[in-house]
Formats: sequence, C-alpha cells, structure tokens
Amino acid sequence: MPSSLVIANWKMHGDRAFAEAFFSALDLTGVAADVAICPPFPYLSLVAGRVEQAGFGQLALGAQSVCAEEGGAFTGEVSADMLVDCGVRYVIVGHSERRSLYGETSELVARKFAAVKKAGLVPVLCVGETLEEREAGRTLEVISGQLQAVADCLGVEAWRGAVVAYEPVWAIGTGKTAAPEQAQEVHRFIRERLGEAGGDTPLLYGGSVKSGNAEALFTQQDIDGALVGGASLDAKEFVSICRAAG
Ligand code: PEP
Repeated sequence: MPSSLVIANWKMHGDRAFAEAFFSALDLTGVAADVAICPPFPYLSLVAGRVEQAGFGQLALGAQSVCAEEGGAFTGEVSADMLVDCGVRYVIVGHSERRSLYGETSELVARKFAAVKKAGLVPVLCVGETLEEREAGRTLEVISGQLQAVADCLGVEAWRGAVVAYEPVWAIGTGKTAAPEQAQEVHRFIRERLGEAGGDTPLLYGGSVKSGNAEALFTQQDIDGALVGGASLDAKEFVSICRAAG
C-alpha cells in the first residue's frame, strides 16, 4: 500500500518573510503522512534550511518544475541536478498551469519526468481533464494519453518511485472540488493503468483541497494524499490537511 503524501505547491506566491512565518507556524507533530513543500525556485535553499531545522522526519523539499535538459545554454531554466544540489526530493511535472500557460506538451512533460528520475528524484506527474473534456465524456481518454506519453518514453518501469497527481483542471484554484466518488473513479482508473507498479505508487488528488473536504477525499480507497495549492499558503490550514491524510 502506498504511503500517504501531502504536497504544498506555493506556485508564484510568497517571499522570504512568508517562508519564515510559514515555518514558524508549521507543526507536524503526530502527522504520519509524508509532507513536501514546493516553494518558488529562488526560495529553495531557504526552505531547504527550514525543512532541516524543523526536524520533522517526514518533511521534504519539492520543486514546481524542472528543465528536461541536463545542462548548458538554456537561459532561465533549472536542471534536475541543480535541484538535487539544493536538497530537493520531489519535482512536480506537467502541472496544468505549465501545460496551458507555457505550452508544455505531454511529450515534453515525459522528458522532464525522465530527467527527474535520472537525477534520482521523485517525479510528481500531474494529469487531468478540462471542463470541456469532462463534459464531452473524454476524461479517461485524456488521462490515458497523458500517462501513455510517459510510458512511451520510459516504459512501465517509469512508475516505480514516482507519484501521480490527478488534478481536474476545472477544480484547480476555482473552489470547485471533484466529489470524492468522482475523484475515486479516476484514481482507480489511473491505478489500473500503472500496471504492476500501481499498487505502490502514491496517487494524489489536487483541486481546491482544504481542511473541510480533505477527510472525505482521503477516505476513498485509491486517494493516497493531496497536491495542495491555495490552502498550502496557510500553515495551519495545510497542517489540518496533513493530519487528515494520516
Ligand atoms: C494546484 O495548484 O496543484 C492546486 C491543486 O491548486 P488549488 O489547491 O489552489 O486548487
């Protein structure tokens, strides 16, 4: 059975003072779930230090994106090895904001996923459908295609040591959460699509998760945790979600 995992995605929010205040309020005593914080790139080292000082064994550092290339003349990009050097453990790839706002295709996402694995880090692959795709009855087809791009690049072994986050695009930052049963149906489908590795791969739900809806989501059989955007900017709210996960 996969371990529970809750990941905070701060997106392009916060500054040094925010990070300091967040860690002053972060108390994970008694939380059994693994927890990761993904700050913006400039604050990785600061947060790495705070993660270490906090002394919670289950707490790790994550990054919100990565370059698919190993290094070289790629202005503005950050390589997987640089993330290793900064103490990162988890790397989000394929977030819907990267796909829709920055034109990241499933093929590029798969190359990023491969770069993360090659560096020995844990990729957190985001998949999910838009409202239009859901209403057209294409949810599973879309998710299947997003997963297949990674399997085409790395084979079925891709999923060992990886995390998959189901994030319906219509639920991200909108306050609309998928009903727990609706999310469970997609999680079950993803678990089956991952083949043998599926049973050990943490499957996270993302999309307007907050303390008020976390428990109902986490009681679903195939929901192992959450990728949290907006609610992760409030340390107490985030800790409540972590507690609901285990
Ligand atoms: C996200 O950005 O991955 C996310 C799920 O955001 P929110 O929790 O704000 O919907």
